[in-house]
Amino acid sequence: MAIEIQDPELKEMFKHGLYFHGHLCPAMPLGLRAGLLARRKLGVERAKSKELMLLSETGTGHLMQCFLDGVMMATGCTYGKGNCEKLNYNKMAFILIDVVESKAVRIAIKPEFIKQALKSPFMERRQQGIPPEMIEPEIAEAAVNRVLNLPEEDVFNISDVYDYEYVYAQEGPPEFCEECGEVVFGSKARVKKGRILCVPCSRYKG
Ligand SMILES: [Zn+2]
Ligand SMILES: [Zn+2]
Repeated sequence: MAIEIQDPELKEMFKHGLYFHGHLCPAMPLGLRAGLLARRKLGVERAKSKELMLLSETGTGHLMQCFLDGVMMATGCTYGKGNCEKLNYNKMAFILIDVVESKAVRIAIKPEFIKQALKSPFMERRQQGIPPEMIEPEIAEAAVNRVLNLPEEDVFNISDVYDYEYVYAQEGPPEFCEECGEVVFGSKARVKKGRILCVPCSRYKG
């Protein structure tokens, strides 16, 4: 069996997504598809800088959190650039905001799809605690092919495009910790007993 992808852009992103993500699983490709769908709905390219903002409703400690890696790859919204935030609702949904045009779209995975997916051989093994990279390749590939090739309307709930004004927090001037001397950007310095300290120094000393 091989991975079957019709859409050329999705096919290209899958290669990079897999390299970035590290293992073959259905949730990352599901995120790729969802992110691409959101971008096309808004009519935008991948974010080069902060022109898009991603508010992901996923969280940590659940089986489908890999989804977010796919969404980040498809949208170009990343933690490093600061245009990705996790809301930790543990939901399979996200809002993609076009910051320039003040428009947004919300995409959620259909509950019926998730119900089915949780009963798949791949997810059964995950629920038994088997790590994704230890699952038989043919089972992983079948799960991935299903995610990539089911009709859009069977998988995604897509909102209409709606108005959404997003303003990034302003960065403060750099400061220097009076304990360790290291630089602290963006008003994250703490004042303790009259001294300007970085977070670790303020928390663990004195
Ligand atoms: Zn994964
Ligand atoms: Zn310090």
